[in-house]
Amino acid sequence: MGKTICVSNRKGGVGKTMTAVSLGVGLAKSGASVLLLDADPQHSLTISLGVREPDKLPVTLTTAMDAILRETPIDPTSGILHHSEGIDFLPANNSLSGTELALASVMVGRETILRQYIDTLKPMYDFVIVDTSPSLGLLTINALTASDCVLIPVIAGYLDAKGLELLLKTISQVQRHFNPNLAIGGILLTMVDKRMNYTREIISLIESAYGSDIHIFRERIPRSVRAAETSAEGKSIFAYDPTGKVAAAYATLTEEVLKIA
Ligand code: ADP
Ligand code: MG
Repeated sequence: MGKTICVSNRKGGVGKTMTAVSLGVGLAKSGASVLLLDADPQHSLTISLGVREPDKLPVTLTTAMDAILRETPIDPTSGILHHSEGIDFLPANNSLSGTELALASVMVGRETILRQYIDTLKPMYDFVIVDTSPSLGLLTINALTASDCVLIPVIAGYLDAKGLELLLKTISQVQRHFNPNLAIGGILLTMVDKRMNYTREIISLIESAYGSDIHIFRERIPRSVRAAETSAEGKSIFAYDPTGKVAAAYATLTEEVLKIA
């Protein structure tokens, strides 16, 4: 049975999508079968995997979640695309924001819609990785409810301590109400620039504030211009800059995740 990992942080631009794609491809390279789910209405994961016109896609995550909401049967594999780097993914487009609104008016079970969908796919994959939006709305609650483990990318240049506290509070609420199996995989430091003093300060701040309760991944993801360019290329960092430091960091992170998963 597969493991579901969700990548989450209430702050945007911290490397969630980059981490979801890189970890997905990293796990696939190590021989695992991987499905990525784009649970962000802004659908950056879909774009970064090379889909040019997401709004023209006939089937997306919206289709699957709407069918479960309406209790109509679906083929769960419908709409799943294959990427040349060895991963499957279910894309999203702007219509997913409609699903988030629709969830709000559901009285019972609105937190478990995504879990119902993923449960039908789990037997087919070793890993399902869910990329989330920078919010703690119902789609993110659904992603946390559906997951075995959550990875929290934190940008090393700026600590959003309040945002992190809110995420941790949401995680513990989800654990209590919907998903006692949800584990915090760890905090991943991203866009680390070793030359910057404040980066070092923030890293030690995070280590002293959270290090005793939450795993902090040993591997830190460096900042690189090549990494910033990948999403426009429709490839992962492993294909775009295979010998670069960011690809090496995500390869090591993949090994760390394989140890805890
Ligand atoms: P999020 O999903 O949290 O909003 P993204 O993964 O989209 O964050 O990353 C935000 C921006 O930073 C994107 O333009 C991405 O290409 C870029 N980026 C991500 N990781 C790195 C990195 N290690 N070095 C430099 N730029 C990065
Ligand atoms: Mg994103």
